[in-house]
Amino acid sequence: LSAGGLAEGVRAGDRRALARAITLVESTRPDHRADAAALLDAVLPATGGARRLGMSGAPGAGKSTLIESLGTHAIDAGHRVAVLAVDPSSSRSGGSILGDKTRMAELGRRPEAFIRPSPSSGTLGGVARRTREAMLLCEAAGFDVVVVETVGVGQSEVAVADMVDLFVLVVAPGGGDELQGIKRGIMEIADLVAVNKADGDLADAAGRAATDLRNALGLLRPKRPGWEVDVLRCSALTGAGIDELWETIGAAHERLRVDGPDGLDALRGRQAVAWMWSEVTDTLIDRLRRAPAVRAALHAAEKDVTAGRRSPTAAAVELLDAFLGQPDG
Ligand code: GDP
Repeated sequence: LSAGGLAEGVRAGDRRALARAITLVESTRPDHRADAAALLDAVLPATGGARRLGMSGAPGAGKSTLIESLGTHAIDAGHRVAVLAVDPSSSRSGGSILGDKTRMAELGRRPEAFIRPSPSSGTLGGVARRTREAMLLCEAAGFDVVVVETVGVGQSEVAVADMVDLFVLVVAPGGGDELQGIKRGIMEIADLVAVNKADGDLADAAGRAATDLRNALGLLRPKRPGWEVDVLRCSALTGAGIDELWETIGAAHERLRVDGPDGLDALRGRQAVAWMWSEVTDTLIDRLRRAPAVRAALHAAEKDVTAGRRSPTAAAVELLDAFLGQPDG
């Protein structure tokens, strides 16, 4: 199928076309990149209409249970929900933190839902890029809520925050000091915090965690001017608070719909430009590594730098000059 035909299938909401389109953008074959780019260009006019949500939290916080509960709620309210994952751990360790277990089985059975696991290979940058492209494809296929899930243990949150409108941090009450395990950097990018597992024996602890979180967030500089981070308690298990969480997400998204530099259009514009530059960087390095003149010099350069015979700076200049075919300046 041509990129044009695939784009048509995606825009018609054909799930098989969508799955194939995502497989195409996930392909690492250089000759697939041109097709993928043509496909993305063809669907671009049909994108932009979704709420783009990031969801992060430590393993075990209840992300997948919460996404299932929230997603089902959204579908019952008339939405179509796509769930994508960013989990670079799967390529690094061979095992994924987000898990290979069947996740979100109930949501996955709904025809209004589309769930796609993280690409199984690549660097964080590569995985994030493909997830971002998959997000656009889902939007073009008519999904008006896209949830990008990530594990709260590293750099992947920042990559996800850079592709979504709102970033939701999921926290579970646990051993007393819930805040200890949460990295400050992750708190700084949160637009909203959901304290999950506010049920049964954990209800009191969830209340305390919510208070502590509000206090801690109050000490941080607001991520956006005038933005107050809501901290909500909910239970993905019992469904308590899920309604309110969905309402709050909707209200927060509405708050972004202002003109000017703090508004959604401006945010997405900045994200797209940042994405373009990271594409330039990634593609440039990829081409550099494959260029024959560089490949001839690469091994010796690495060996010399390892042994301390050459400075990294001098070796870098040599490789760049070999790639560009002429000395700089
Ligand atoms: P993830 O690793 O963040 O995706 O967490 P999971 O969704 O896999 O949940 C981890 C564990 O917490 C599972 O055993 C869930 O059943 C449990 N869990 C999830 N949400 C809740 C909740 O709201 N209340 C309680 N009590 N347990 C929950």
